[in-house]
Amino acid sequence: MKVLVLNSGSSSIKYQLFRSDDWVAIAYGLVARIGEAEGELKLNWLDGAHNHQSRQETLPIPTHQEGIDHIVAALRASGALADVSELTAIGHRVVHGGPHFKHPVIVDDCVQAEIQSVVPLAPLHNPGHLAGIEVARRLFPSVPSVVVFDTAFHQTMPPAAYRYAIPEFLYTEHRIRRYGFHGTSHGYVASRAARVLGKPLEQCNLITLHLGNGASAAAIRGGQCIDTSMGLTPLEGLVMGTRCGDIDPAVLIYLGKNLGLDAEAQDQLLNRQSGLLGICGVNDMREIEQLAVEGNARAELAIGITAHRLKKYIGAYYAELGRVDAIIFTGGIGENSVGIRRRACAGLERLGIVLDEEANASRESRGERCISVADGEVRVLVIPTNEELEIARQALAAVGG
Ligand code: ADP
Repeated sequence: MKVLVLNSGSSSIKYQLFRSDDWVAIAYGLVARIGEAEGELKLNWLDGAHNHQSRQETLPIPTHQEGIDHIVAALRASGALADVSELTAIGHRVVHGGPHFKHPVIVDDCVQAEIQSVVPLAPLHNPGHLAGIEVARRLFPSVPSVVVFDTAFHQTMPPAAYRYAIPEFLYTEHRIRRYGFHGTSHGYVASRAARVLGKPLEQCNLITLHLGNGASAAAIRGGQCIDTSMGLTPLEGLVMGTRCGDIDPAVLIYLGKNLGLDAEAQDQLLNRQSGLLGICGVNDMREIEQLAVEGNARAELAIGITAHRLKKYIGAYYAELGRVDAIIFTGGIGENSVGIRRRACAGLERLGIVLDEEANASRESRGERCISVADGEVRVLVIPTNEELEIARQALAAVGG
């Protein structure tokens, strides 16, 4: 049997098809530029002889319905999916589940309405997810659609961590609290880390650092999240590609009063023009590291602020946890940037965090690896994330597979 994972955005749908007996991804790809004059369909798959094949097409994709139709037709044409009846479940990534969803759930009208009700909390993400869910349910009524929320893993945070120090009614009437995101990734790398440590997850205290274009940290005690860096929205916390992370909220008041920026302009400024891009004009860490090597001072500053903020969170979460078994780096930057890992961990020897410089710099392995010294009290691990696989597994579990 197979599980299809859909990550449906406002104008694109990423997909991955897994064989559920061995969890091999037998096909993946995306449809992009939905609603534009020219759309794009990409498919990569393993053929019968286990060779990688790929196909790319430019064609109009007016709606999400056509997008999903094209995905299924391409999967069938490639032989990756003989028939929709092979699907045990469709797993949908949903960024914001609001305050109620603690676990993946099979979608019904009530679940869809609840996701709709938190659209104001995730206006960039939830509408696209809903479009994909609605189409999948309509096209494939016999295949259960399961939603897996980025927020769910963080639902174990205590109120002291998830409440803001603002008037009570903003929480009770407007659901303004910290939710946290990237939960599927934090949960996945935490469970992989437990395997590497050779301990049950329930006995592991971990600090997980998901560092991609979006970035977040989580403090995990006994396998459960007790704090995370993102808040009401994915803007709070670490420095990101185009998002500022933590700032004094009075900056917004200042921008409103003195620069006349309205809410929309403030949103654009902090979500799309800040972070690495705002500091040095580039949002791609690979390019920034190259510029810094060439002596570009703004690129160097961008790296400095990023590492400084990371170290602050490592220290804060260490204090919250009291004892830490491992720090885990994941995401494009966490998995690949030797320099960011080095700078985030520098000077933390007294906390038992000591990198093995050679292991950290080694490009030999791209897989799960330990980059701390052998006798280090805290293990520092690099664990490639795989959110799609985790969504597929959780979707199958939700349908009782
Ligand atoms: P997304 O959040 O969009 O999934 P990724 O997890 O793919 O993003 O991370 C993208 C980031 O990872 C980019 O800033 C990219 O420059 C960075 N990255 C990828 N490879 C490397 C590398 N070899 N060295 C440094 N940064 C890298």
